[in-house]
Amino acid sequence: VQPILKIEDLRTHFFTEKGEIPAVDGVDLYINPGEVLGVVGESGCGKSVTSLSVLKLVPNPPGKIVGGRILFKGDDIVPLKEKDMRKIRGNAVSMIFQEPMTSLNPLFTVGQQIIETVRLHSGKTKKEAREHAIDMLRKVGIPRPEAIIDEYPHQLSGGMRQRVMIAMSISCNPELLIADEPTTALDVTIQAQILDLIRRLNEEQGTAVMMITHDLGVVAEMCQRVAVMYAGKVVEEGSVRDIFKNPLHPYTRGLIESVPRMDETRERLYSIPGNVPILSKDMQGCRFAPRCEHAMDICRSSLPQLTLQEELHSCRCWLHESSQEDAV
Ligand code: SF4
Ligand code: MG
Repeated sequence: VQPILKIEDLRTHFFTEKGEIPAVDGVDLYINPGEVLGVVGESGCGKSVTSLSVLKLVPNPPGKIVGGRILFKGDDIVPLKEKDMRKIRGNAVSMIFQEPMTSLNPLFTVGQQIIETVRLHSGKTKKEAREHAIDMLRKVGIPRPEAIIDEYPHQLSGGMRQRVMIAMSISCNPELLIADEPTTALDVTIQAQILDLIRRLNEEQGTAVMMITHDLGVVAEMCQRVAVMYAGKVVEEGSVRDIFKNPLHPYTRGLIESVPRMDETRERLYSIPGNVPILSKDMQGCRFAPRCEHAMDICRSSLPQLTLQEELHSCRCWLHESSQEDAV
């Protein structure tokens, strides 16, 4: 199958007073049709910038895609003009954010916003688009959609706003939904409901999902495959089963050991000491070396490649390079 999305060596840099910051520093990723891919990492690892790059929503300036390709169903969208991106955005590819208030317009009612999106991408009349909007609101579990449709975002609770956001983003039946920490701002019960909604969308409509999260629990529950990002790069990628059972990269191992266990009263068993490095163009070697208990000389001087370790399981670490050489 052709992946619905294939990112090749993506580089998105920010040009700031402090210099050029490689927030996304050569990322490779793919998502197959109907698949849910988790993208995990600490804040600042480049996962959000990667997802914004896919929709070409990185604020420019200071951000800019400086290299690589983003193939949507085989076609590179990096060179596309804004006019052509607008045909894809909200239509074939849609996005939901952590805080829906930033993407809902406070000056317009819920209905006006969904209806506008629907009309922009379909030949529907105003009346048809309104009916469609009500259907969508019902679909995402909003009670009394006929009334809610005429309310303004600030009149709704956080959970309701996130539902509206999802209703809007699925109103054009996207083939790919990008969800960036969609539940982080919500309380636990609402979180579960929103995740359930996204899962149903995936199962019932076959929408592929790129799920950006710092929460491995969300990954375990929602995703088939996962890419672990660190300091602007993918450091490990594979099926959720392989990554949880047999994490190869020391960073991934640290992340998994940091997940609070149900039978533990303490919040954290172990968390990775140290901080995410300040990104710069002069970085050398493995970005994780300052925090890695296995770091060797080669780690500090030379960057390991993302290499296949076993079927569909790749890792970027010198500890796992020898098996690669044996295989050659
Ligand atoms: Fe640790 Fe070296 Fe592997 Fe980086 S390459 S994660 S420093 S062992
Ligand atoms: Mg983020």
